[in-house]
Amino acid sequence: MASKPINNLHFLLIPYLAPGHTIPIIHMAKLLAHQPQVTVTVVTTPVNALRYRPILDKPGPSVQFLELPFPATEATGLPEGCESLDTLPTPDLALNFAAAVDMLQSELERCFETLSPPPSCIVSDKYLAWTADTADKYRLPRIVFDGMSCFKQLCDHNLYASKVLDGLRDSEMFVVPGLPDRIELTRSQLPVEFNPSSRTTGERLERAREAASRSFGIVINSFEELEQEYVNEYKKLKGGKVWCIGPLSLYTDIDQDNDKAQRGKIGSISEQECMKWLDLRERGSVVYACLGSVSRVNPKQLIELGLGLEASGHPFVWVIRAEEVERWILESGFEERVKDRGLLIRGWAPQVSILSHPSIGGFLTHCGWNSILEGVCSGMPMITWPQFAEQFLNEKLVVQVLGTGVAVGAQSVVHWGEEEKFGVKVKSEDVKMAILKVMDSGIEGIERRKKAKELGKIANRAIDEGGSSHMNLKLMIQQIRDIMNLNVFGG
Ligand code: UDP
Repeated sequence: MASKPINNLHFLLIPYLAPGHTIPIIHMAKLLAHQPQVTVTVVTTPVNALRYRPILDKPGPSVQFLELPFPATEATGLPEGCESLDTLPTPDLALNFAAAVDMLQSELERCFETLSPPPSCIVSDKYLAWTADTADKYRLPRIVFDGMSCFKQLCDHNLYASKVLDGLRDSEMFVVPGLPDRIELTRSQLPVEFNPSSRTTGERLERAREAASRSFGIVINSFEELEQEYVNEYKKLKGGKVWCIGPLSLYTDIDQDNDKAQRGKIGSISEQECMKWLDLRERGSVVYACLGSVSRVNPKQLIELGLGLEASGHPFVWVIRAEEVERWILESGFEERVKDRGLLIRGWAPQVSILSHPSIGGFLTHCGWNSILEGVCSGMPMITWPQFAEQFLNEKLVVQVLGTGVAVGAQSVVHWGEEEKFGVKVKSEDVKMAILKVMDSGIEGIERRKKAKELGKIANRAIDEGGSSHMNLKLMIQQIRDIMNLNVFGG
C-alpha cells in the first residue's frame, strides 16, 4: 500500500548572529509561517530571542524560537551577554565570536530529538558550515541562505572558476569573466574570499563553500526582475535550485501590523519623532545617511561624511554610532550649524520607516545588501559608499547595471576591524558632489529617480500573489515536499 504523502513541513531556520543576517531570516520565518501546513522554528540564543521577539509577537501564525544557551564567558573570552556581532566590544574578538557560534552545534543536536514536529528541512546562513553536518546527521535537506544577490553569487563563482586574479596587483583593474555586463573591479574591491583580511581565516571560508556544495539549494533575498540575467545564469549553474523570494523586508507588513520600525533594536529616537521631523520637510528633499549595523568607519572619515552632508545644502538624517564623532559634532559647532536641517540619530534608526517617508529623496548607503534592497523597495536613488565584504559588488549592480545610484568614489575595501589602518579616502567634497548629482533636478537626476521608482513598484509586485517571489516561495516549498515524499533524505 502506498504511504500517505507528506504535506506538513517543519522548517528550522538558523541565522548567523548579526543583524544583517538575522533580520532577513526573521522576515523569512514570518513569511513561511503564513504558508499552509508549514511550521517554523528559528534557532537562536536568549539575548537574540529577546531582541527579535517583538517582530514575531504579532497576530497571525506563530513562529517559535529554539533558544540555545550561548557558551559561557570562560569558554569564549566574550563579555557576558555579547551574543550578536554588533555588540562586540572590539573587532579583536571576531574570531572568538565565530568560534562561540560554532559551539552551538552540540547544543542544537542535544535537543534535536525533542523538536516537535520533527524538522523536515534546515535553512541555514551560509557561514554556519556545521549545519551541513547536522543536516547530514539527521538526514535532512539543507538550504543555504546567503543573504546576498545572484549578481554576487555569479561573480563569486566566476572568480573562483577563472584564473583572472592570478598574478594581478591589488590595484590592477580586471573584467569579471562570464557576466552578462562588463563589470570592472580591482582585487582590493573584492570580498575577503579574494582579498583576505587579518580577521578571516581561509579555512572558515572554505568550510562554508564546501558545506554549500552539499546543500539542496540556495534561497536568495532578491527578486528576479531586479537582476534577471544573473538569476538565469546562476540557476543554470545550480541546476535550478535557486529561489529568489525577496525582498524579505517587504514582509514586515504581512500581518498588517505596520511594524516597519521593528528591527530588533530600540532607536535613540522614536519612529514618531522621526516621522514628525520628516513631515516638516519638502517632498524628496532629504538625504538619509546610514552605514549599516556593524561598520566601524574611521572617525576622521565619518567627519568628512558629516561635512559633505552639510556642504550639500540638503536637509539630512544622519545615523551615527561613534563616540569620537559625537564629540566632534558637539565641539566643532556642527550640530548648531545644521540644527534647522539635520536630524542626528545616535545609535539605531528606524531605517525602513525613514526610507518609506515621502520627504526622503536619496539614500547614502554603505551598500549592505539589506540596505540596498530596502532602498530599492522604497524607490530610492542611492549615493553609494561601499565599505567591506561584498559591498563593492552591490555598488556595481546599483550604479552600473540598474543605473539608480551615484558612487562617492571609494576605491578599496576597508576590512572590518582594520579601519584604523585606513586614513581618509573619501573627502567631504566627493560626498557633496555625489549627493548633488543624486538630488539634481536636471535630466540625469530625473531619469535616475524614474528608474528607481519603477524598480520600487516592481519589487512590491514581486511579493504579491502571483508575483515572481511569491511563485518561487511556493516552488521551493513544493520541491521540499517532493523530496520528502521521494524519501531521498530518509525523513
Ligand atoms: N538597520 C536599521 N537601523 C540602523 C542600522 C541598520 O534598521 O540604524 C538595519 C537595516 O535596515 C538593515 C540591516 O540593519 O536591514 C543592516 O543590514 P545590511 O545588509 O544593510 O548591512 P550590515 O549591517 O549587515 O553591514
